[in-house]
Amino acid sequence: MGTYLRGITLPKQRSAPLELIEIAPPTQVVLPLIQHLGEPAKPTVNVGQKVKSGQLVATPPTDRSVPIHSPLTGVVTAITTTFSSRGQSTDAVVIEGAEKVPRKKRIKDPASLTPAELTAGIREAGLVNPGLQPLPLVGDLLPSDQPAAHLPLSGRRVVKRIDTLLIGALDPEPSLGVNGYLAGIETEALAAGIASLKAVSGAERVVLAVDTNLPTPGPLVTLVAEDEEETTSIVGLNGRRYPIGLPIPLIKAALGREVPLPYGHPRDVGVALCALVTAISLGETLITGTPQLFTMLTVGGGALGKAGIVKVPIGTTIGSLVEALGGFEREPAKIIVGGPMTGFAHYELSVPLGKDAIGLFALTEEEITAVGGYRECINCGRCVAVCPVNLVPGMLSMYCAKDRFEEAAAGGLLSCIECGCCDYVCPSRRPMVHLFRHAKHQVMEGA
Ligand code: SF4
Ligand code: SF4
Repeated sequence: MGTYLRGITLPKQRSAPLELIEIAPPTQVVLPLIQHLGEPAKPTVNVGQKVKSGQLVATPPTDRSVPIHSPLTGVVTAITTTFSSRGQSTDAVVIEGAEKVPRKKRIKDPASLTPAELTAGIREAGLVNPGLQPLPLVGDLLPSDQPAAHLPLSGRRVVKRIDTLLIGALDPEPSLGVNGYLAGIETEALAAGIASLKAVSGAERVVLAVDTNLPTPGPLVTLVAEDEEETTSIVGLNGRRYPIGLPIPLIKAALGREVPLPYGHPRDVGVALCALVTAISLGETLITGTPQLFTMLTVGGGALGKAGIVKVPIGTTIGSLVEALGGFEREPAKIIVGGPMTGFAHYELSVPLGKDAIGLFALTEEEITAVGGYRECINCGRCVAVCPVNLVPGMLSMYCAKDRFEEAAAGGLLSCIECGCCDYVCPSRRPMVHLFRHAKHQVMEGA
């Protein structure tokens, strides 16, 4: 079992994976042209144009972007402005119609494809590795000799060869459950996706990180048993020991490697990191020839009154998902897209859920009282003790609150992984992640 000493222990959520909730598909989707960090795609359709399910509606200018395909068969009714799951303002293609799953046509066996053919398949499928730093999967995996436009957001050329493929089969936060759910489901796509990622990344071994609070997933045990070369293994991690499921801590806990911050990438320590949900999506797209049309989310919170996993067409709005789930049981005080610790608050039900959305939580007033009005820092040091990347969050938050962004940057602001542990333990209820996100934006914009 891997260990991780910093962070916080969150309450146990469950002893079995969440279950899938079947819901009716929407009749309208709003497809944001940016559904990850990087660059927006460019629309290839016009208002009034008929589209089929699986048809390309926006094309990526570089590998820091992904193609977007319509999940519905219908008509483009508008090209409008909306917010992405992360709260960025973006243009979006609105399509009204009906879900019509494209006819699955079996293409070549993924095992017979070359790394270049697999890379082309990933690029065309428009896959995004979701999470706190959602990036186009192809940009995350490309070999180091690719042009600079294909490199991660830091823009640095990375030269380290990847030796390990780390599959996150535990969820980024204990409240989230898509990876835990999928890990227990036997699918052809699981093996195909992981084998393809291994081939594209050039990794010699595969490590499957699982949550020890849940039963060990049978399909992953089978994968290990069937690997005659003995290059696949399972590492168990305590998913309640947050933020063990976030990328930087996950690599440290599972492999003992430290990604250099602030601009480091898993490749810098020889690792290709991929969420289990993305590996399965990749397997499905390679087997069926269908691009990414759906996203899987965890839903929960007292205002919804139910918790589970849903599979929705990309571009489903918060409002139509809530309606499909039977509406709010109680008045929501806060709606979060993502996990309760790392997600983004939204105030409009018209916001669509993109490829980067991993959760939808509708919280009641009682569930958010813990993060209410805040006070001055009392220098108790609790935030320092829990910060997984050894920052001094209290001091940083004071700089950020006073717009002293240069001093915050000098204090390590850009190394913050936005885990929210400091917020969680702060007796003064200081909204530190909120302050840090705003300050990072200002620093990046050169304010
Ligand atoms: S400063 Fe950033 S990395 Fe450290 S605990 Fe706070 S949110 Fe997490
Ligand atoms: S936990 Fe809150 S009050 Fe304590 S040092 Fe950190 S910011 Fe200040």
